[in-house]
Amino acid sequence: MSKNEGRIQAIKQIVNHKPLPPKTPPSLDAIWAENVFTLNKMQATLPKHIFKSIKKTIVSGEAIDISIADAVATAMRDWAMSKGALYYAHVFYPMTNSTAEKHDGFISIQPDGRAISEFSGKILVQGEPDGSSFPNGGIRGTFEARGYTGWDVTSPAYVMETDNGATLCIPTVFVSWTGEALDKKVPLLRSISAMDKAANKVLGLLGHNDVARVNSSCGAEQEYFLVDANFATQRPDLLLAGRTLFGKAPAKGQQFDDHYFGAIPERVQVFMQDVEEQLYKLGIPAKTRHNEVAPGQFEIAPFFEAANVASDHQQMMMTTLRHTAKKHGFVCLLHEKPFAGINGSGKHVNWSVGNATQGNLLDPGDSPHDNTQFLVFCGAVIRGVHKYGPLMRAAIATASNDHRLGANEAPPAIMSVYLGTQLEEVFEQIQSETLNGSQKKGVMDLGVAVLPDLTKDAGDRNRTSPFAFTGNRFEFRAVGSAQSVSGPLIVLNTMLADSLTWIGNRLESELSAGADISKAILTVLKEIMDDHGAVIFGGDGYSEQWHKMAVEERGLLNLPTTADALPYLKTESIRDLFDKTGVLTPVELESRFEVYSEQYVLSIEVEAKLVISMAKTIIYPAAVEYLSQLCSTITSLSGLGITLEKGIAQKIADLANSMIASVSKLESAIEKEDFASTEEHMQYCAGTIRSLMDEVREYVDVLEAEIDDSCWPLPSYQEMLFIK
Ligand code: ADP
Ligand code: MG
Repeated sequence: MSKNEGRIQAIKQIVNHKPLPPKTPPSLDAIWAENVFTLNKMQATLPKHIFKSIKKTIVSGEAIDISIADAVATAMRDWAMSKGALYYAHVFYPMTNSTAEKHDGFISIQPDGRAISEFSGKILVQGEPDGSSFPNGGIRGTFEARGYTGWDVTSPAYVMETDNGATLCIPTVFVSWTGEALDKKVPLLRSISAMDKAANKVLGLLGHNDVARVNSSCGAEQEYFLVDANFATQRPDLLLAGRTLFGKAPAKGQQFDDHYFGAIPERVQVFMQDVEEQLYKLGIPAKTRHNEVAPGQFEIAPFFEAANVASDHQQMMMTTLRHTAKKHGFVCLLHEKPFAGINGSGKHVNWSVGNATQGNLLDPGDSPHDNTQFLVFCGAVIRGVHKYGPLMRAAIATASNDHRLGANEAPPAIMSVYLGTQLEEVFEQIQSETLNGSQKKGVMDLGVAVLPDLTKDAGDRNRTSPFAFTGNRFEFRAVGSAQSVSGPLIVLNTMLADSLTWIGNRLESELSAGADISKAILTVLKEIMDDHGAVIFGGDGYSEQWHKMAVEERGLLNLPTTADALPYLKTESIRDLFDKTGVLTPVELESRFEVYSEQYVLSIEVEAKLVISMAKTIIYPAAVEYLSQLCSTITSLSGLGITLEKGIAQKIADLANSMIASVSKLESAIEKEDFASTEEHMQYCAGTIRSLMDEVREYVDVLEAEIDDSCWPLPSYQEMLFIK
């Protein structure tokens, strides 16, 4: 059997694949939030006073009255069982980017041997999964492994349907026996409270008497790749690392831009419909779908929601994408850079803050120059990004996202703010004390009578900025596709809380010195521009000039790798930020540094081991087989007096030898264990290990280009990206 037999079989199967037939989409009304225990469902099943009490907690953020838990638990169980659920799970979000759940049956055996279904308030409110299996960054030893989950009333419970049955899922927080947050939800909720408190004070100073709770909103655009499962299963790198460690670039990549927003392939469209139907049932408002820049790459974006719910929904969306892909014969890759040389995947986190009384606090309206409320909140963000840029970089630092950041496609690893021409001008006027107006929205006459005039926004978009203002929100574009959005949201909310607190205090002192509020605001905003205006940048974030200017003239930090970024979590200013806002204690912050750096080191080590084993057990044998065919042909031809040049055989032998030499270097490199610190270990992975992996890859990719295709065992980029 030739070595490419597997690939040929895979192609045959894909070509003959009958896509699951498209379903007639059910009406949205019929399925929307069908599997969610919504406020409406609670109202229909709970006694009035209990419903009122729980609604207060959910809608206005008031403290939860735990005495209602029994009644809610019973109603929830009855509803879930009516949907076929026999199990329930406390769902939580450990410090990795994953979702964790522990399933338990409703079943309870009575003393007389009868089985009844039981689900008490106590069980709803608190659970105890085996805490020792989740990373804690040194907060607990495994011998003191207790960890508790606690009901998050503000994120609705839901029934998850899978082929194995239905489960009632209850969103929860996860904390240690000593009360430290072991998850991403506790700090997210705390960051919202901190931001609410600071925003409240500022809004009061701006003259508002009626101020509802301020929350942050998030709409996350998710990019992903689909690869046929027949190919993916033949690539150990895709299966274990989520990305290709080898692979020659195809002759045609994305240069024609013909995939972006192109027609969605039929099989993919059926998959998307299936995903959307499940999401709608879960109350997740999937709204946008399209092809992305790279062949085989797609995007799904929901309508934005309150940050905590959006974050839970985002995790559910990733799970649904992965599961559903399998059903359709695909593997869904959420990795940030599955294919070298082809655009990677990000997750644009659209973020704004607002409340029920003042609306979206980041909405500039038509004349931002006299919208002081907007200017204050926008100024607060500018200050935050400048002061805590390295923290934002750390919040998106993973081994896999490092492949995007700083490359020529994704936002750079330097944090800056894009405001657009209109706002940039307004803030420049504030700084030079000449505030007098702002550009208006324009109208575009397309010169063709039958076409309508289009409105033109006052500012353009910028695709090269890591953090861009886009009309009424900021878009954090540098977030990685596989990441939980909680980390970035925690950072954004916390730095905003810090800035608003600072602004509140500054306004107060200006007021008590006799200034009126308008004058006080302008003084404080000018101060922000003087101290932090350097972070505003409207040019090409990918350009060499910016990299140079940002660092040399503006004093911004360029942190290309996770190894460079994570140590900032240990700096005093960041420790203080989290401590004084009450979002993370120093111990909790330290544990995050430990967990994230360990994950970084581990994922690079796993990849390095894979490079070694694939090179030795898959690539080398392929090279040798081709060589032996070539050499026996050369020998038999020479018996006939015909000379076949030995050059190619020599070249392949040289490449195979060089590859093995690099593999040996990598093998000894990963043996090293004596590191003075975690920081040093990370730098070693970012530098020595990664460059040796690249060295092996270079030889392998040239071999792929030289060797007879029928000897090449791995599905190629061309096949994986273009055959659907
Ligand atoms: P684009 O690709 O042009 O940036 P999309 O429509 O794909 O835009 O996604 C924009 C995302 O931003 C959506 O999830 C949308 O709901 C969200 N969004 C819109 N307004 C806000 C807002 N005020 N706060 C947070 N997110 C928002
Ligand atoms: Mg976007």
